Formats: sequence, structure tokens, C-alpha cells
Amino acid sequence: MTAPRLEIDLAAVAHNARSLVDRLAPRGIRVTGVSKALLGAPGVAGALLSGGVLGLGDSRVENLERLRAGGLRDPLTLIRSPMLSQVARTVRVAGSSLVTEAVVLDALGVAATRQGLVHAVVLMVELGDLREGVPADEVADLARTVEHRTGLRLAGIGTNLACHSGVVPDQHSMDELSRLAEKVEAACGHPLTIVSGGNSATIDWALSTADVGRIDELRLGEAILLGTEPLHRRVLDGLRTDAFTLVAEVIEARPKPAQPWGEIAQSAFGAPPRRPASGTVNQVIVALGRQDTDPDGLSPPDGVTVLGTSSDHLVLDVGDHDVCVGDEISFGLDYGALVRAATSPFVTSVEHTAAL
Ligand SMILES: *Cc1c(COP(=O)(O)O)cnc(C)c1O
Repeated sequence: MTAPRLEIDLAAVAHNARSLVDRLAPRGIRVTGVSKALLGAPGVAGALLSGGVLGLGDSRVENLERLRAGGLRDPLTLIRSPMLSQVARTVRVAGSSLVTEAVVLDALGVAATRQGLVHAVVLMVELGDLREGVPADEVADLARTVEHRTGLRLAGIGTNLACHSGVVPDQHSMDELSRLAEKVEAACGHPLTIVSGGNSATIDWALSTADVGRIDELRLGEAILLGTEPLHRRVLDGLRTDAFTLVAEVIEARPKPAQPWGEIAQSAFGAPPRRPASGTVNQVIVALGRQDTDPDGLSPPDGVTVLGTSSDHLVLDVGDHDVCVGDEISFGLDYGALVRAATSPFVTSVEHTAAL
């Protein structure tokens, strides 16, 4: 089989989606499945939907277009504020988007009107993580203006924490979002249909709080795909962590001295690799590198250590394992490694559907 390849267990993705959907539902929280890490792969989208998510979100118009081209009819949301240069494509492919700028609202309204559509808007509020968001004291005023534009409907408000500065979503920030939801409703004179509490980093709060307030939706990618929460990369109860495996092929297997010889300066990517002090290393090279994934985010099999990496070579100490040229070695991936593998033109994605 071709290598490197990203093997995707769709049953594991569907299981994780179902598990989170079922645990959040009694708390009044629905789930939008976020497909951006996989370029909007239709198989993964199908697994998310079969797990009960209410719709899909992606940060790229191109990925949403791929989902629609695959025949998907479910609600789609653009979860990155639309580029002005892409508003026409945005309203064509997505029923809603997360927005932070008045000028983008103007452009979306014009584009939607031109296409005879009404586009739903979720205004994102800045609550301290310092990525996207309208200042809290401006959100009601901006919300009031949304529906002055033909072609737009205000669906709700949302926030995104933990992505840029690592700010932890907590009762304080979620209470503030709830208060803002009520302020916006008073300003606009109608109820909001969505108060979006955040990404996978908000799951711990959502499952443990005594009071979800007005939060009624989360946008979940990593937790469903990898079974982990992003704040401490802890495995979430009952979730599978084996949905994705990166398989690479061995191109050299030769015992090598523990230490290099000759004068030592920088290697291709800065610091020289860490190697044992003395003796011989059972060294193996697999055809995998920085052009395929983020090597720092790989988990090798038990008894195998990563000694170093370049654009195209991953150098391993395989310890007691008996490994030959042509063998394949499988790695687990963190979110960064997964995104890089899924977007590398050198890595083939293989979806397993049998168990679905
Ligand atoms: C990527 C992203 C998400 C999903 O984040 P995960 O940590 O993968 O759950 C949610 N919302 C926004 C705005 C995003 O950019």
C-alpha cells in the first residue's frame, strides 16, 4: 500500500461524536462538528453527522465547497470570519458564518441579497483570548445593525477561547457570554437561536458546570477526532484516541554508532539531534518528514524513540524491535501533526468504513 498514509477509522470518529453529543444534550448543548483538520473530507463529515452533530463547521470556504460537492445537504457554518474576497462563495456554500467586522457584514449582506439568500450571522465576542472577537461593550450595538442589512439574519453570538493565548473557558467567561446574549436580545428585540460557547477547550466546563446559562452550542473538532481536550491534552472519558494513524515506510535499517563523528555545527533544522552517549543504536529511517507532518506531534510505538527529523527523513531508535527495509511503522498524532498530515500532498488519506 502507498505510504505515508493517514488511516482514518470512521467508526471511532462517529463513536466520539455520538458520545459527546449524548453527554452534552441533557445540558441543553448541541454540537457543531468541525471538519477543518481533514480538509472537509466527506467520509469524516459523514462520520460526524452519523454521530448526531447538528451541522458542520469549517474555517475554509474551499473545504465547505468540497463537502457540498460531495452531496452533503446539512447546515454548514464558516467558522473563520469570511474574507471580503470570498463573501460570494461564503453565502453560496454556507448558511451561516462567524463574523467580527461591520465591513464584512456589509459585504455578506450585499452578496446574499444578490443571490436571493438570507445569510445567518453569529457575532464573535472577544473574551480575553485575543484572537477574533468584537469587544464585549460593542457587541449589542453591532448586533442591532445586523438586520438593517438586507440579506442578513442575526442567529446569535459566540466566543472562542484557548486558541491563541490559552485562556481557559470558565464560569466567569461563560457567564459573561450569557449576560451578553441577553443584552443583545434586548437590543434586537428577538431571541437568539445560538449562543456558541467555544471549541473543545470548553467541554470540561460544559460537562461539569452547575449552570450552563445561555450556552446552547459548542463547535468541536479535536475532541471528536482525537478524543482529547486541548487545554491539558487529557483523554476525555469514554472517547477513542485511535481514530487516526500515520503509517510510514522504512527505507534504511542499519545499526549505527550512538554518536556522530567529525566537527559538529547546526543540522538542517537547527540543533543537532539527541542520541545516546555511547554504544550502538538500532537505527531505522522512515520516509516521513516535515513536509508530511509535524514530527514533534508523533507518538511512535512502544520501545521506539525519535532521534531526529528533517524534511523527508525520520530517524528512529527501534530498540529491540526487528525492523527491515519495506516494513511499515505506525504513529499516533496530536492535532498539529494531524492537520499537517491531512494537508500534505505527500500523504494519502485512507478511510475505513467497514464498521460504520
Ligand atoms: C478550530 C476552531 C474550532 C474547533 O476547535 P477544536 O479545538 O478543534 O474543537 C472551533 N471554533 C473556531 C472558531 C475554530 O477556529
